[in-house]
Amino acid sequence: MNDKRDRLRRLPSVDRLLSRKRAQELVQQYSRELVVDSIRDCLESSRERILEMRGGDYDEAELLDDVEMRLQLASCPSLRPVINATGVIIHTNLGRTLLSDAAQQSITTLGGAYNTLEFDLKAGKRGSRQRHASQLLSALTGADDALVVNNNAAALILILSALAMSQEVIISRGQLVEIGGGFRIPDIMGASGARLIEVGTTNRTRIADYRAAVTDETAIILRVHASNFKQLGFVEQASTDELTSCAHEYGLLAVDDLGSGTLIDTAQFGLSYEPTVQDSIRAGFDLVCFSGDKLLGGPQAGIIIGKAALIARLKRHPLARALRVDKLTYAALNATLEHYRRDEALDCVPVWRMISRSLEDIEREASLWAGHVGGTVIAGESAVGGGSLPGATLPTALLAIESSAPDRMMAHLRACDPPVIARVSAGRVLLDPRTVLPQQREDLLQALKSFVAD
Ligand SMILES: *Cc1c(COP(=O)(O)O)cnc(C)c1O
Repeated sequence: MNDKRDRLRRLPSVDRLLSRKRAQELVQQYSRELVVDSIRDCLESSRERILEMRGGDYDEAELLDDVEMRLQLASCPSLRPVINATGVIIHTNLGRTLLSDAAQQSITTLGGAYNTLEFDLKAGKRGSRQRHASQLLSALTGADDALVVNNNAAALILILSALAMSQEVIISRGQLVEIGGGFRIPDIMGASGARLIEVGTTNRTRIADYRAAVTDETAIILRVHASNFKQLGFVEQASTDELTSCAHEYGLLAVDDLGSGTLIDTAQFGLSYEPTVQDSIRAGFDLVCFSGDKLLGGPQAGIIIGKAALIARLKRHPLARALRVDKLTYAALNATLEHYRRDEALDCVPVWRMISRSLEDIEREASLWAGHVGGTVIAGESAVGGGSLPGATLPTALLAIESSAPDRMMAHLRACDPPVIARVSAGRVLLDPRTVLPQQREDLLQALKSFVAD
């Protein structure tokens, strides 16, 4: 207790820190008001750390480092590029996935010019924006038609609102997942006005459980792909064929929320097999929905594909207007889908380039970094991430840097321009080349050298 009180007493005052030469330089660069605010914030968080018994004593130089870092961050836009050295390929906090060069180019071109978003050149009058992605999506997946909305959560809400309002939707208890950020499938379903009928148990749901739950009120049998967790052991789920046959036998719709929705077989990279979008269409689902920015590697979007008559009903629903996407999304999505059509996704779509990057190539890059900044190259794992392929990792090479204060090193890296995001394990800062772009190498090395030099 006394120790805490002593340490609190030893913290310098705002005025004392402000009188230091370094603080005065910051006042010149920013303003007195900003520097004072930043000093107050730093002292406050030091006080909290002492009260929670976290961290050691802070000397004045460290406090002023912290003050400067806060000022730097506060003067930058809040949304800015970073270097992702975590190795997590689909990193939701870091913007999920990167767009291909062609997709970026398409955004620039269409964002800076009037365009045919809703204009039919042949007829010379209004056209539908939905036509832009539907042809390519149908060609790639084998579905009749497609609709693009804001994200996959929106896709699910639209499907349930338009096709199961005040009716019942049957789902297995093993699929009531939380998709991240605190959002849960049952809550999303609730927001649509559909009634959720849970069947089976957490680990086992048979087709008989679905049959027993069908009533006059049932509209949909919904499957939600367990995209971000894995069940092992005494586990059973009805097969996709069983689900679609059962639904159709009772005149119900079979809907598949695939989550990530891959068009490419993931097993060829030593990962587990992730059911593809084509598999779901082949299994006879009436509608299938998935994200645009997970394994597809495009912009944020919710893609709905399936039977033409159902897609037409979705398009007419008022929510479709509220959930529609803009020209930039179509621009990026179409350019991304084109890569798949031309069979060049592995080379052009960053998610797939990172997944398929060879271990030798990654090792070479890690060794090159070590040659510049020291540290050792060790074997490790990169995660695919983003609620896809749960637990699946790819063997990688990491640059490991020993540090007596790894958290301070991480904070320093985050304060660089561009910021570098790494990970810490057992007192070492770990950097994974898999998710670092070739053009980011110099900035990364600069950031690492600046810490060593500190
Ligand atoms: C990620 C995910 C969603 C939500 O997709 P967003 O595009 O992020 O809205 C919905 N369902 C499943 C199964 C998911 O994995």
